[in-house]
Amino acid sequence: MLIEIRYAGICHSDIHTVRSEWGPVAYPLTVGHEIVGRVAEVGPDVTRHAVGERVGVGCMVNSCRECEACRDGQEQYCTGGNTMTYAGVDRDGTVTQGGYSTHVVVDEDFVLRVPEAIPYEAAAPLLCAGITTYSPLRHWKAGPGSKVAVVGLGGLGHMAVKIAAALGAEVTVLSQTLNKKDDGLAFGAEHYYATGDKATFQALQNTFDLIINTVSAPIKMSSYLRLLRLDGVFVTVGAPPQPLEVPAFALINSRRSFAGSNIGGIAETQEMLDFCAERGIAPEVEVIGADAVNEAYERVLASDVRYRFVIDVDTLR
Ligand SMILES: [Zn+2]
Ligand SMILES: [Zn+2]
Repeated sequence: MLIEIRYAGICHSDIHTVRSEWGPVAYPLTVGHEIVGRVAEVGPDVTRHAVGERVGVGCMVNSCRECEACRDGQEQYCTGGNTMTYAGVDRDGTVTQGGYSTHVVVDEDFVLRVPEAIPYEAAAPLLCAGITTYSPLRHWKAGPGSKVAVVGLGGLGHMAVKIAAALGAEVTVLSQTLNKKDDGLAFGAEHYYATGDKATFQALQNTFDLIINTVSAPIKMSSYLRLLRLDGVFVTVGAPPQPLEVPAFALINSRRSFAGSNIGGIAETQEMLDFCAERGIAPEVEVIGADAVNEAYERVLASDVRYRFVIDVDTLR
């Protein structure tokens, strides 16, 4: 189906890709995998979406549809090779192009319904930042009675706080400084600690059931693992280029686990959108024109955004 794009979020992955930091890229390339817009045209086989409907596209636009993960609705873990929304090679051999654009054509199986209850400009970041944090929170059962820590309060982190709080968990933010404390508490956190302060790691030993790490820079794993209680799980969704070093005893003591998580499946992404609509959760966004993208990239790299940039695609028309 053809989607007329209205807003596109700026994800840190876009910057890595544009700058070939994650390997060689076939230029020219259009990035963007937080896309919302309206269905403009549908092909004869499209049955699930209608012209005019508000829809979204996230990080994937296709997968093998046959492997165990795909059959289980976990296309993000497709072992046959899924197709990323941009800089991927689709099954017909074309290089996929992302959402910093007026239009995109996507197979309906990889298109999400975006409920009207979610503010239009704020919906885009749910397609990557939202699902990336929702999926591990659900998988490791964050909810009433569980204590969740979120490391880093950026694009991903602020969504992790909002979603974990809405799921009923007791949420703690672990941020470098206390600069964004008021925001963190407003997003639903009950506690907020500075990781720059050594006393934090003393005070919080053996506290959390689940830690979601959204930081893409190296962190001292031994200090963080010791914040987990018995059977606690540390999940990283941030992907620093350097290895995260895990001392065995930090895991052995208290039977802790160290895990990773990658976006979410299509069905789960729909579930997340419906959950956010029902609970009134949306990302905090700063809407910019297309001519401000380069400046926005610099501000993302400097952590100077509260909390996600969204491009108003009408400025491209
Ligand atoms: Zn992303
Ligand atoms: Zn597959």
